[in-house]
Amino acid sequence: MGKRVRVRFAPSPTGPLHIGGVRTALYNYLFAKKNNGDFILRIEDTDKNRFVSGTEEYIIEALNWLNIKFNEGVGIGGNHVPYKQSEREDIYKQYAQQLVKSGFAYYAFDTPEELDIKRKECESRKETFQYGISTRNAMKNSFTIEEEEIQKKINNNEHYVIRIKIPAGEIIHINDIIRGNVEVQSSQLDDKVLFKSDGMPTYHLANVVDDYLMKISHVIRGEEWLPSTPLHVLLYKYFGWENEMPLFAHLPLLLKPDGKGKLSKRDGDKLGFPVFPLQWVDPVTKEISSGYRESGYVPEAVNNIIALLGWNPGSEKEIFSMDELIEEFSLEKVGKAGCRFDYEKAKWFNHQYISKINNEELAEYLNEILKSKKINSSKENLIKICELIKDRMNFMNEIWDKSEYFFRQPTTYDEKVLKDKWNENIPSTLNNIVGKLKSISGFTSAEIENIIKEYIQVNNLNAGTVMTVLRVLIVGKNSGPELFKIFEIIGKEETIKRVEKGTKEFKV
Ligand code: GLU
Repeated sequence: MGKRVRVRFAPSPTGPLHIGGVRTALYNYLFAKKNNGDFILRIEDTDKNRFVSGTEEYIIEALNWLNIKFNEGVGIGGNHVPYKQSEREDIYKQYAQQLVKSGFAYYAFDTPEELDIKRKECESRKETFQYGISTRNAMKNSFTIEEEEIQKKINNNEHYVIRIKIPAGEIIHINDIIRGNVEVQSSQLDDKVLFKSDGMPTYHLANVVDDYLMKISHVIRGEEWLPSTPLHVLLYKYFGWENEMPLFAHLPLLLKPDGKGKLSKRDGDKLGFPVFPLQWVDPVTKEISSGYRESGYVPEAVNNIIALLGWNPGSEKEIFSMDELIEEFSLEKVGKAGCRFDYEKAKWFNHQYISKINNEELAEYLNEILKSKKINSSKENLIKICELIKDRMNFMNEIWDKSEYFFRQPTTYDEKVLKDKWNENIPSTLNNIVGKLKSISGFTSAEIENIIKEYIQVNNLNAGTVMTVLRVLIVGKNSGPELFKIFEIIGKEETIKRVEKGTKEFKV
């Protein structure tokens, strides 16, 4: 039997989740579900300096909104508690020390100021400083300080870090499901810090130790982590965990709509679309970044949009429910090339999903908005209204704009249209139409249509003109669904009231 599929989403609470992060979570989820495996949420919060309060809650809320469900991890528990790295602090030190004992890592005592001087020296020669094979012998560490002295420094609580000892002249192989075989020369790597002077592990150590302890089978993460992977592969080797090493899959970058460069957290509101799942208010600057939820996206649409940013189903099919995504997803069909975010396409997807929402559900949503405006309407009416307008909505938050005239008579009219259509006969035509409307007993759209069309025909009127004028007087502008259906929903009295009011108020 193969290894159980166990994947994890391991965000750092250093800011709100960007849609790139959402995609990583989604692909992990789809992969876990497809393979009847586990999906774990682990919070990687070992870097206290970069911690931003509220982001852990934000991440969980965003995943819940999108229905990307993890079955183990923070807030849920499981066999490998705790799932927050700051609560696992005690675990990591022994692993760092184990590597020191086996000669794969070493203590280093260089102060930040000393490192800075080295960096500047190199910069002045137009070189970049690398703590590693060629420089470690000129630094303050286990290679240059006697063992006894080192122990003394540690006992005296002097600040130290533990660094990995990168081997000379080795080729490190990464077998990536998406990228194939990637080879890296060890000389390109530096002796990264594994354990910091504040007693916390770095991302690299904690990430590898936890993936091992939590029995992770596949590491699916963004391409930005590919450069760290050789180091991770070495750590698996140094710990003697090569057989347990997960398989890697590095997801392609998300690009700006014009394809020029990475889609960054700052781009969203600049380019006119959200890059965050939920609205985010920066706790310090109070700057607001828009979110998909608040911008009126349907979560299912967001998943569908994001799923296709990198994964190619290999067919023309574009609309996928979550179950269909689970069914069809595979890492082999994730491409290497960066994918552009296409806002127009995102709008199209959202529209497709909104038009499929059932009328009762949409009516409930509308009713909540009406309640906040202290407007009452019958459920039956709301269902009819939603049926009429949902095809005209791209975003959920357009619902009030698209339906306001059902509940309130217009306070302004599109004057340009009215002026264009108005002539001296219009007022009398409208009066006659009011008379006709009054005579209708059932006031169903079919009946209204019959009567008005007959009136137009008998009097040899221009149907386009009459209908447009009526529409503007009822709706306020020359748009909206079928006019006679609007008449039926707002009712006889209200329809007559609006036509009479408009006839009186509009002056050419
Ligand atoms: N904590 C890393 C992040 O914030 C996780 C990278 C990984 O999945 O290994 O993205």
